[in-house]
Amino acid sequence: MTRTTDSTTSIDTTAWRQRYADAMMRSFAPPLTMLERGEGCWVQDVDGKRYLDFLAGIAVNALGYAHPVWVEAISRQAATLAHVSNYFTTPQQLGLAERLLQISGAGDAGRVIFGNSGAEANEAALKLALLHRHATGKARILALNAGFHGRTTGTMALTGKPAQREPFGELIQGIDHLDSTLEALEAGFGDDVAALILEPIKGEAGVRPLPEGYLRRARELATEHGALLIVDEIQTGIGRTGAWFGFQHDGIVPDAITVAKGLGGGVPIGALIAFESAADLLQAGMHGSTFGGNPLATGTALAVLAEIERSGLIANAAARGQQLIERIAGIGSPLVEEVRGRGLLLGIALTAPIATELRATAQHLGLIVNAANESTIRIAPPLIVGDAEIDEFIALFTDALEAHA
Ligand SMILES: *Cc1c(COP(=O)(O)O)cnc(C)c1O
Repeated sequence: MTRTTDSTTSIDTTAWRQRYADAMMRSFAPPLTMLERGEGCWVQDVDGKRYLDFLAGIAVNALGYAHPVWVEAISRQAATLAHVSNYFTTPQQLGLAERLLQISGAGDAGRVIFGNSGAEANEAALKLALLHRHATGKARILALNAGFHGRTTGTMALTGKPAQREPFGELIQGIDHLDSTLEALEAGFGDDVAALILEPIKGEAGVRPLPEGYLRRARELATEHGALLIVDEIQTGIGRTGAWFGFQHDGIVPDAITVAKGLGGGVPIGALIAFESAADLLQAGMHGSTFGGNPLATGTALAVLAEIERSGLIANAAARGQQLIERIAGIGSPLVEEVRGRGLLLGIALTAPIATELRATAQHLGLIVNAANESTIRIAPPLIVGDAEIDEFIALFTDALEAHA
């Protein structure tokens, strides 16, 4: 990819902004730019400006852009068999299900169901929770304040952001949100709890890890009270934190996990992986999806997993994360308070509420990061990130910080 423009779509900025405002629903903020192509950790917009992308489509583009292995896999699958209904199966679908059971530790006794997004995976997980609640006569499902689980009506009810739910009135009832402390967990748990669903690191909340020991205690309490422990690994999963899944750092066994984002490396796919204890809750006819598990998505995801393994990208995520934490601290900027998170899911906490402005400055300089909230910059680069990209990131981010000093 060259630095000068080789844009095929010469589009006037004012014109596309107007077209966006006219054609698109108002749910999203105006786009930051119009992107055209990408390669590795870099993307280019329609004006030919290049950006080092440390957001990766929000932790989706695990192999970066246009990775040859990914391109080959999706092209081959498109040319062979892209979609079949769930009246049939394919080698790709079965292969991916078995691989997910293996890397999650759910093993032979676990089961998988596919969907097309994170929210859809969590809808399936919520069905497990509702089935268990209904069957046991328990009353409550627990989730965490500031947790994020998606934008469907079911997952919005799980999401711990009241402002997102309020415009819609009454959603699924009986979901209680707890603060993310061990004290709130102890106080909130009881025999009336059917399920607890949580993220190991709250990504949307500004990359906030659970307190030390939280997941282990949650496992104990869930077991003691006959509740399901469901871990939303949609942002933390598929190698991003330096393990296949975030819960694996704590050595617990969940009842179910959900995955999406990085799994397809850019092709839409989500999955619910149930462990032995929850594997038979969903019975015939209780869930389904037309596109879920089709060979285009599952074949591509299989190639993503194989490439993560072949190139040692989980170890890379762990090492690069550590390197980034040290190098960001090494900038010595008074604007940086701390770096939270693990592996390649990091939140740079700022000492002033200037994340939005800092993000805009970074974009101007050619760096894409995300303002998770007013005082946190979130970075989630592709898992293929190497020395050259880290050096470039530190240089650009240092310049951005200095512009606001
Ligand atoms: C992104 C995300 C979701 C929602 O996934 P979609 O694919 O946007 O539906 C759910 N949970 C977590 C933790 C996420 O990061």
